[in-house]
Amino acid sequence: MGYMHKVFLSGKGVYGCSSCETHLAKRDDITSRHYTGQYGRAVLLSNVVNVIYGEEEKRAMTTGVHIVRDISCMGCKKYVGWTYIKAYVPEQRFKEGQFILEREIIHDVSRDWDY
Ligand SMILES: [Zn+2]
Repeated sequence: MGYMHKVFLSGKGVYGCSSCETHLAKRDDITSRHYTGQYGRAVLLSNVVNVIYGEEEKRAMTTGVHIVRDISCMGCKKYVGWTYIKAYVPEQRFKEGQFILEREIIHDVSRDWDY
């Protein structure tokens, strides 16, 4: 895998890993706050950084079958969510290429907002 350079996000509303504070995403990139992950509340985002991708797998969800890859924090290797590769239900295709982050596992490292 080799050396991976961490991206440092700046500005308001930066999500980081709750274990190691590696930056993962910006509030500005949130598409929806109304998602459910494996551990409860989750957010859908158009972009994340500093993550490692797992294997592609087919997963049946409440919204239908999707091809997804789990994503883990580059800093501590902890699971943080997943990304949608393919959605089989046409109405769900907007999620392809987007990311889910688990609210239980991430936190606001800029600490200037309280979602
Ligand atoms: Zn981490």
